[in-house]
Amino acid sequence: MDRLYFQVPFNDKDIAKRSGARFDGDTKCWYAPDEQVANLLRKSFKEVENPAPITELPGEDREFGGNGLFVDLVPSSCWFTNVRYCIEDDDWARLSKGVRARAGQECEVCKGTVDAESGIFLEAHERWHFDEESGTQVLKRIICLCTACHRTTHYGLAQINGEADQVRAHFMAVNDCDEAELDRHVAHAFDTWQERNSRDWALDLSIITNAGITLRRRVAKDDRRNIAHAETQATRAVEASETLTIKEISLDDMDDLFRGF
Ligand SMILES: [Zn+2]
Ligand SMILES: [Zn+2]
Repeated sequence: MDRLYFQVPFNDKDIAKRSGARFDGDTKCWYAPDEQVANLLRKSFKEVENPAPITELPGEDREFGGNGLFVDLVPSSCWFTNVRYCIEDDDWARLSKGVRARAGQECEVCKGTVDAESGIFLEAHERWHFDEESGTQVLKRIICLCTACHRTTHYGLAQINGEADQVRAHFMAVNDCDEAELDRHVAHAFDTWQERNSRDWALDLSIITNAGITLRRRVAKDDRRNIAHAETQATRAVEASETLTIKEISLDDMDDLFRGF
């Protein structure tokens, strides 16, 4: 029989395994090898029609923001409330695979390709529209960016990670501009960020749900702060491991660090 695929939340994978489900590494989906297992899985899980990479997001505007390289800072109420965090790992794997495939395996901004030796990969980045009137942050597009362009887009995070020089050089090369122009651009991006920070934003991920992907969790406002804290700690720990001193940072320190996110 044909493989029947099921949507198995990450936390339930042991249940699926015990029922006899097998994991398909290619599509990153669980499937039933026979009818008996399929019947067991149907009791707990939804059958997945198509485990192939997701390339179509109904309602997505693939022109949104153009294909230029710009600094795009996420308001603090939305830190780490990214798509990857909100959907199942299986779905994220299918989605990011689809985003890379439809871009022809190259960066949609600088046309760069994977160069593992230089640490350059292709990554999926969310582009948002901020609807001032309704106070909604609407996911408009998922763009395929190389690591260099992606880091530049998240300029504040790059600063925290000590990558400012690299991303500045990349921005000037891609946009063929000088330092003064870059500084004006960054200042403007931070002004916009400050304005957006003065309020909380609701999330609209309908292009994701339109594609039949289920949102597995919403991150409460207070949790976002803790997640951001944990992520920063992890970064610091990597840096500190080189000098063998791991410095604890407080949540208040973290707020200062993330002022420029
Ligand atoms: Zn690029
Ligand atoms: Zn991103």
